Amino acid sequence: MLILHCPCCGVDAAEIELTPGGEAHLKRFGPGSSDADFEGYLFLRDNPKGVVLERWRHSYGCGKWFLAARDSVTMQVFGTYSAQTQEPPQDILDRIEAARA
Ligand SMILES: [Zn+2]
Repeated sequence: MLILHCPCCGVDAAEIELTPGGEAHLKRFGPGSSDADFEGYLFLRDNPKGVVLERWRHSYGCGKWFLAARDSVTMQVFGTYSAQTQEPPQDILDRIEAARA
């Protein structure tokens, strides 16, 4: 079972307490953008085999969104971090790099 640490309330939440929110760090396109950019934002997602950055909501806990870095094959969790960030913190990037070596 997937267990993620909620950085908002500090609880180690089991998968059944969480709701997946898809790919993290999407660049949003709205009114005024090209049709291709808007289509890409709405429908096109990466589906890599390996390290993924995802949005999760602690639905049956504090109710807040956060981001997680994990491996989609091994289910190894590299860490979780605030949803108000543009990229993963350096310590999580270091753990990802160490796992790849
Ligand atoms: Zn929480």
